[in-house]
Amino acid sequence: MDRTTGSPLELANDRLDEDAPHWRSHVGSILLSEAMINARVSELGRQISADYSRIAPEFVIIGILTGSFIFLADLVRKITHPVRIYFARAKSYAGTHSTGSVWLHDFDLLDVRDKHVLVVEDIVDTGKTLKAIHEELGRRGALSVHFCAFISKQTERKDEGVPEVRYVGFVCPDRFVVGYGLDCDERFRQLPFVGIYRP
Ligand code: 5GP
Repeated sequence: MDRTTGSPLELANDRLDEDAPHWRSHVGSILLSEAMINARVSELGRQISADYSRIAPEFVIIGILTGSFIFLADLVRKITHPVRIYFARAKSYAGTHSTGSVWLHDFDLLDVRDKHVLVVEDIVDTGKTLKAIHEELGRRGALSVHFCAFISKQTERKDEGVPEVRYVGFVCPDRFVVGYGLDCDERFRQLPFVGIYRP
Protein backbone atom coordinates (compact mmCIF):
# COMPACT_ATOMS: atom_id res chain seq x y z
CA MET A 1 0.00 0.00 0.00
CA ASP A 2 1.34 3.44 -0.90
CA ARG A 3 0.60 5.42 2.23
CA THR A 4 2.16 8.60 3.51
CA THR A 5 -0.16 9.48 6.41
CA GLY A 6 -1.21 7.60 9.55
CA SER A 7 0.22 6.92 12.99
CA PRO A 8 3.79 5.59 13.28
CA LEU A 9 2.33 2.23 14.23
CA GLU A 10 0.05 2.09 11.19
CA LEU A 11 2.90 3.08 8.91
CA ALA A 12 5.21 0.51 10.47
CA ASN A 13 2.57 -2.19 9.97
CA ASP A 14 2.13 -1.24 6.34
CA ARG A 15 5.89 -1.51 5.84
CA LEU A 16 5.89 -4.90 7.55
CA ASP A 17 3.38 -6.20 5.02
CA GLU A 18 5.49 -4.90 2.19
CA ASP A 19 8.68 -6.34 3.65
CA ALA A 20 7.24 -9.65 4.78
CA PRO A 21 7.68 -11.90 1.73
CA HIS A 22 11.22 -12.93 2.78
CA TRP A 23 9.69 -15.76 4.86
CA ARG A 24 6.87 -16.78 2.54
CA SER A 25 8.83 -19.36 0.52
CA HIS A 26 9.99 -21.05 3.75
CA VAL A 27 6.76 -21.21 5.71
CA GLY A 28 4.32 -23.80 4.39
CA SER A 29 1.43 -22.87 6.63
CA ILE A 30 0.80 -20.90 9.77
CA LEU A 31 0.15 -23.16 12.73
CA LEU A 32 -0.27 -20.63 15.54
CA SER A 33 -1.43 -17.09 14.84
CA GLU A 34 -0.43 -14.06 16.89
CA ALA A 35 -3.93 -13.90 18.41
CA MET A 36 -3.84 -17.57 19.45
CA ILE A 37 -0.41 -17.10 21.00
CA ASN A 38 -1.37 -13.94 22.91
CA ALA A 39 -4.46 -15.55 24.40
CA ARG A 40 -2.63 -18.70 25.48
CA VAL A 41 0.37 -16.83 26.95
CA SER A 42 -2.02 -14.76 29.11
CA GLU A 43 -3.66 -17.94 30.39
CA LEU A 44 -0.30 -19.49 31.21
CA GLY A 45 0.77 -16.35 33.06
CA ARG A 46 -2.36 -16.45 35.19
CA GLN A 47 -1.96 -20.14 35.96
CA ILE A 48 1.73 -19.84 36.87
CA SER A 49 1.06 -16.80 39.09
CA ALA A 50 -1.71 -18.63 40.95
CA ASP A 51 0.36 -21.81 41.44
CA TYR A 52 3.57 -20.14 42.64
CA SER A 53 1.79 -17.65 44.90
CA ARG A 54 0.59 -20.69 46.85
CA ILE A 55 4.07 -22.17 47.39
CA ALA A 56 6.61 -19.35 47.81
CA PRO A 57 6.87 -15.57 48.26
CA GLU A 58 9.19 -15.52 45.24
CA PHE A 59 10.36 -18.01 42.64
CA VAL A 60 12.98 -18.27 39.90
CA ILE A 61 12.48 -18.49 36.15
CA ILE A 62 15.27 -19.71 33.90
CA GLY A 63 14.77 -18.92 30.24
CA ILE A 64 16.58 -21.31 27.96
CA LEU A 65 18.25 -19.43 25.12
CA THR A 66 17.95 -18.83 22.41
CA GLY A 67 14.53 -20.10 21.38
CA SER A 68 12.56 -19.00 24.45
CA PHE A 69 13.45 -15.32 24.32
CA ILE A 70 10.20 -14.02 22.81
CA PHE A 71 7.94 -16.43 24.69
CA LEU A 72 9.66 -15.60 27.96
CA ALA A 73 9.44 -11.85 27.38
CA ASP A 74 5.70 -12.12 26.76
CA LEU A 75 5.07 -14.65 29.52
CA VAL A 76 6.81 -12.81 32.37
CA ARG A 77 4.77 -9.69 31.64
CA LYS A 78 1.67 -11.78 32.42
CA ILE A 79 3.09 -13.10 35.69
CA THR A 80 1.94 -11.15 38.73
CA HIS A 81 3.92 -13.02 41.41
CA PRO A 82 7.49 -11.88 42.30
CA VAL A 83 10.09 -13.71 40.25
CA ARG A 84 13.84 -13.55 39.60
CA ILE A 85 14.68 -14.13 35.95
CA TYR A 86 17.88 -15.74 34.71
CA PHE A 87 18.99 -17.10 31.37
CA ALA A 88 21.06 -20.11 30.43
CA ARG A 89 21.82 -21.78 27.16
CA ALA A 90 21.09 -25.23 25.75
CA LYS A 91 21.68 -26.60 22.29
CA SER A 92 20.77 -29.95 20.79
CA TYR A 93 19.71 -29.19 17.22
CA ALA A 94 21.75 -28.46 14.11
CA GLY A 95 19.52 -27.06 11.36
CA THR A 96 16.32 -29.14 11.40
CA HIS A 97 17.78 -32.22 13.09
CA SER A 98 18.47 -33.31 16.64
CA THR A 99 22.16 -34.12 17.18
CA GLY A 100 21.29 -36.50 20.03
CA SER A 101 23.61 -34.60 22.40
CA VAL A 102 22.77 -31.65 24.64
CA TRP A 103 25.21 -28.82 25.41
CA LEU A 104 24.42 -26.74 28.50
CA HIS A 105 26.08 -23.37 29.12
CA ASP A 106 25.98 -20.75 31.88
CA PHE A 107 24.22 -22.94 34.44
CA ASP A 108 27.13 -22.22 36.80
CA LEU A 109 25.99 -18.55 36.86
CA LEU A 110 22.53 -19.38 38.25
CA ASP A 111 21.54 -18.92 41.88
CA VAL A 112 19.10 -21.82 42.28
CA ARG A 113 20.09 -23.47 45.57
CA ASP A 114 16.96 -23.93 47.74
CA LYS A 115 14.84 -22.07 45.20
CA HIS A 116 11.62 -23.04 43.43
CA VAL A 117 12.60 -23.01 39.76
CA LEU A 118 10.48 -22.83 36.62
CA VAL A 119 12.40 -23.54 33.42
CA VAL A 120 10.96 -21.87 30.33
CA GLU A 121 11.67 -23.68 27.06
CA ASP A 122 10.64 -22.98 23.47
CA ILE A 123 9.77 -26.48 22.31
CA VAL A 124 10.06 -30.05 23.57
CA ASP A 125 10.75 -32.79 21.06
CA THR A 126 12.62 -35.88 22.34
CA GLY A 127 12.81 -34.39 25.85
CA LYS A 128 16.61 -34.92 26.01
CA THR A 129 17.18 -31.21 26.68
CA LEU A 130 14.67 -31.15 29.54
CA LYS A 131 16.21 -34.23 31.07
CA ALA A 132 19.72 -32.74 30.96
CA ILE A 133 18.49 -29.44 32.47
CA HIS A 134 16.53 -31.25 35.19
CA GLU A 135 19.60 -33.25 36.21
CA GLU A 136 21.83 -30.17 36.17
CA LEU A 137 19.47 -28.11 38.37
CA GLY A 138 19.08 -31.04 40.75
CA ARG A 139 22.88 -31.19 41.12
CA ARG A 140 22.86 -27.45 41.84
CA GLY A 141 20.43 -27.85 44.74
CA ALA A 142 17.15 -26.41 43.42
CA LEU A 143 14.26 -27.03 45.83
CA SER A 144 11.78 -27.78 43.03
CA VAL A 145 12.11 -27.79 39.26
CA HIS A 146 9.16 -27.56 36.88
CA PHE A 147 8.96 -26.92 33.16
CA CYS A 148 6.97 -24.60 30.97
CA ALA A 149 7.21 -25.15 27.19
CA PHE A 150 5.66 -22.94 24.57
CA ILE A 151 5.20 -26.02 22.36
CA SER A 152 5.21 -29.71 23.13
CA LYS A 153 5.54 -31.88 20.03
CA GLN A 154 3.36 -34.93 19.59
CA THR A 155 6.28 -37.35 19.59
CA GLU A 156 6.81 -40.57 21.42
CA ARG A 157 9.39 -39.76 24.16
CA LYS A 158 11.63 -42.80 24.11
CA ASP A 159 14.18 -41.71 26.73
CA GLU A 160 13.58 -42.73 30.31
CA GLY A 161 13.45 -40.07 33.00
CA VAL A 162 12.17 -37.22 30.81
CA PRO A 163 10.46 -34.86 33.26
CA GLU A 164 6.81 -33.92 32.82
CA VAL A 165 6.06 -30.50 31.32
CA ARG A 166 3.70 -28.91 33.80
CA TYR A 167 2.78 -25.88 31.65
CA VAL A 168 2.31 -26.46 27.91
CA GLY A 169 1.37 -23.62 25.59
CA PHE A 170 0.39 -25.74 22.60
CA VAL A 171 0.65 -29.37 21.54
CA CYS A 172 1.77 -29.52 17.91
CA PRO A 173 2.26 -32.19 15.27
CA ASP A 174 5.73 -33.63 14.78
CA ARG A 175 6.83 -31.12 12.14
CA PHE A 176 9.74 -28.67 12.19
CA VAL A 177 8.35 -25.26 13.10
CA VAL A 178 9.76 -21.73 13.07
CA GLY A 179 8.78 -18.29 14.34
CA TYR A 180 8.07 -16.64 17.69
CA GLY A 181 11.69 -17.26 18.72
CA LEU A 182 12.09 -20.63 17.00
CA ASP A 183 14.73 -20.72 14.29
CA CYS A 184 16.21 -22.65 11.46
CA ASP A 185 19.93 -21.88 11.57
CA GLU A 186 19.18 -18.61 13.43
CA ARG A 187 16.65 -17.42 10.81
CA PHE A 188 12.89 -16.80 11.19
CA ARG A 189 12.99 -16.12 14.94
CA GLN A 190 11.46 -12.71 14.26
CA LEU A 191 8.14 -14.01 12.89
CA PRO A 192 5.28 -13.07 15.24
CA PHE A 193 3.51 -16.38 14.52
CA VAL A 194 4.56 -20.05 14.30
CA GLY A 195 4.66 -21.75 10.92
CA ILE A 196 5.67 -25.09 9.51
CA TYR A 197 9.10 -24.83 7.94
CA ARG A 198 9.48 -25.60 4.24
CA PRO A 199 13.15 -26.20 3.24
P1 5GP B 1 14.71 -32.10 22.45
O1 5GP B 1 15.92 -32.13 23.32
O2 5GP B 1 13.43 -32.10 23.22
O3 5GP B 1 14.74 -33.18 21.39
O4 5GP B 1 14.77 -30.78 21.59
C1 5GP B 1 14.56 -29.53 22.15
C2 5GP B 1 15.27 -28.44 21.39
O5 5GP B 1 15.40 -28.76 20.00
C3 5GP B 1 14.45 -27.17 21.42
O6 5GP B 1 14.82 -26.37 22.53
C4 5GP B 1 14.79 -26.50 20.10
O7 5GP B 1 15.98 -25.77 20.21
C5 5GP B 1 15.04 -27.67 19.16
N1 5GP B 1 13.83 -28.05 18.40
C6 5GP B 1 13.12 -29.18 18.49
N2 5GP B 1 12.11 -29.19 17.61
C7 5GP B 1 12.16 -28.01 16.95
C8 5GP B 1 11.35 -27.42 15.91
O8 5GP B 1 10.35 -27.96 15.39
N3 5GP B 1 11.72 -26.18 15.50
C9 5GP B 1 12.80 -25.52 16.01
N4 5GP B 1 13.07 -24.32 15.51
N5 5GP B 1 13.58 -26.06 16.98
C10 5GP B 1 13.26 -27.29 17.45
